Amino acid sequence: MKDAYSFDTDWEGLDRSYWDMYQAYHRIFGRCGMNFRAVEADAGAIGGEGGTHEFMALADIGEDTIATCTCCEYAANLEKAESLSAVIGTVSGTATEDDLGQPEKFHTPDIKTIAQLEASLGVKAAEIMKTVIFVVDGEPVAVVIRGDQEINELKVKNFLSAEMIEIADPEAVQAWTGVQVGFVGPYGLNLPVLMDHSAAGMEQGIAGANESEYHYRHLIPSRDISHAKVGDFRTVQEGDPCPRCADGTLKFYRGIEVGHVFKLGTKYSEKLGATYLDATGKTQTMIMGCYGIGISRILSAVIEQNHDDNGIVWPLALAPYHVHLVPISVKDEAQMQLAGKLYNHLQDQGVEVLLDDRDERAGVKFKDADLIGLPVRIVIGKGAGDGMVEYKERRTPGDKVTIRADEAVGQILNLLGLK
Ligand SMILES: [Zn+2]
Repeated sequence: MKDAYSFDTDWEGLDRSYWDMYQAYHRIFGRCGMNFRAVEADAGAIGGEGGTHEFMALADIGEDTIATCTCCEYAANLEKAESLSAVIGTVSGTATEDDLGQPEKFHTPDIKTIAQLEASLGVKAAEIMKTVIFVVDGEPVAVVIRGDQEINELKVKNFLSAEMIEIADPEAVQAWTGVQVGFVGPYGLNLPVLMDHSAAGMEQGIAGANESEYHYRHLIPSRDISHAKVGDFRTVQEGDPCPRCADGTLKFYRGIEVGHVFKLGTKYSEKLGATYLDATGKTQTMIMGCYGIGISRILSAVIEQNHDDNGIVWPLALAPYHVHLVPISVKDEAQMQLAGKLYNHLQDQGVEVLLDDRDERAGVKFKDADLIGLPVRIVIGKGAGDGMVEYKERRTPGDKVTIRADEAVGQILNLLGLK
């Protein structure tokens, strides 16, 4: 890891430090030749009062999922991502309270899952209210969501400003509600209830009756579950409407986290007594930011994004050497002389050069050169006596030209911006 910290006297200063660092990280990852996104993230255990962004290299092997808008700049880690909940939550319908009547209890033996309810009642998951009991800082909390949606634990945890959250085990559910997991529902439940917009927007729904082998139908959220606190507790899905713009929808990518910037605020400086004296001589707490880059992860991400069947294709800024010099025969005096000359001359100009002076067949050397993937390969062969070499860039396989050695040097210096 590369770690950095900023210490400011006020929040405006932290904002400046944070965005300076954010821009610097953008440039660093850009120069690394990386396809990446800066995404809104959760501060997690590191915490802090301000914002936080993760820098994610896009790669199918990535362990994280990120949601990005198809139209605007919005991008967020899946656990943090929002969508236009109001749109998702609303199930249109025309039935009124009068049409629906009161909640109706009905017998549902051996039906404990959403799938079983769907199958036996011939209803869709979206017509069912799913209730999950969580243990939040040691206390039970019921979270209600539409049956075709998934609860995002992190959003529940953040909503309650809690330290710990986990799904209650079946014994705990039985102890708190008096019934088995499959028959718990929000109607008449004597526990704190949180309800996702997707459930709150239902015209009516089916839910467990808190009585073994029974469910309720015709539950109207605003009437029957009015004790619930409504919020965004849902994991977004691909295709959801973007929370920031009118036209976009969310698309998912896999990513590797290569950097993270945090506004820590006073979380640590307060605890550790990191203070300064202000202009009036008063003791004040420093406002902190923290910034990290995963150095070794950059390498794996960059190689994941920059390779072909033959090996690595190093971006210039990260290549271990810029130029790979390959004399075809180390026994040929003219070839070795020109190779030595180029080796010294390029190094004098600030170019990093690898000279393959092994006594190997040309094919072996070429294969290794492709595998290692340095940006420029110079082959010194039969034309060496006339000062001619073969110039090839790794990024464009097949595109090789025979030119004079001094021309090759000129092209290399151009490519590296040294001329
Ligand atoms: Zn958008």
